Amino acid sequence: MTWRTAYALDDFRNETNARWPGRSKASDGTIGDARHQAESTSDHNPFVVVGGRGVVRAMDVTADGIDAAWLAEHMRQLGAAGDPRLRDRGYVIFNRRITTSDFSGWKAYYGSNPHIKHIHVSFGRTAFDNRGGWNISSAPQASHVAHASLTIAGPAVSQALAKDQWNLTDTGFPTANDGVDGPSTQAAARAFQSAAGLTVDGIVGPATRAALRKVPPISQMNARSVQRSLAVDHGWRVEVDGVWGPHSKSILRQFQAEKGLVVDGVFGPATWTALFTRSR
Ligand SMILES: [Zn+2]
Repeated sequence: MTWRTAYALDDFRNETNARWPGRSKASDGTIGDARHQAESTSDHNPFVVVGGRGVVRAMDVTADGIDAAWLAEHMRQLGAAGDPRLRDRGYVIFNRRITTSDFSGWKAYYGSNPHIKHIHVSFGRTAFDNRGGWNISSAPQASHVAHASLTIAGPAVSQALAKDQWNLTDTGFPTANDGVDGPSTQAAARAFQSAAGLTVDGIVGPATRAALRKVPPISQMNARSVQRSLAVDHGWRVEVDGVWGPHSKSILRQFQAEKGLVVDGVFGPATWTALFTRSR
């Protein structure tokens, strides 16, 4: 099928070129390469058809030679302000971050390509052929406060920490899952360390990480079956709703106390055995 680029993309590219005339185009791209074409949902593939021609609705802009963090944040703000050319499933990816679906902010991006060398802009699925300027050549760059959070030196995003966050939440100590070592993660880590009898410093170091990986996550064990066993097999008053909240945790602590186990609210092997091995 023949293809063309979305008109909103053409306007965006022209304005970017006008603002930074000497910019590098080494990582530029529109139509999908072999890797992108393998994923049929990539906006680099012309799967939206207008008048018998496929339309490519995504552009990669080389980060070298432009103020890439500013440009990425500028596009996010236009999306947040409701620009129809971006709304309806458009998004921006840059420096391990992707816009939220309503463009209200950035969240961690874990794709195999971290998008450090280029900004990816996907235009929306409805108004991608609307014409109009993007205010790239005229906007003062200093106007974007969040600009700094997108620069390469911004807060470190760690996939290992994201996994620890996932384990913390799954173990009953909920926290964000953004790979950033922030206050909520430190609080959850302190609560977990206290429950697990570790040094309470809020830092997910080797000992905490090891302890987290030893605890069978509640969702894997199925909170409902644990609650059912507590209620039906052991006579505790706990709601069997599959939600592992503070009440369930407190009942588990009481169960551990009754069985003469370490009272930590954590599923170690001894608690598991006491819970699921029927005494006859
Ligand atoms: Zn791309």
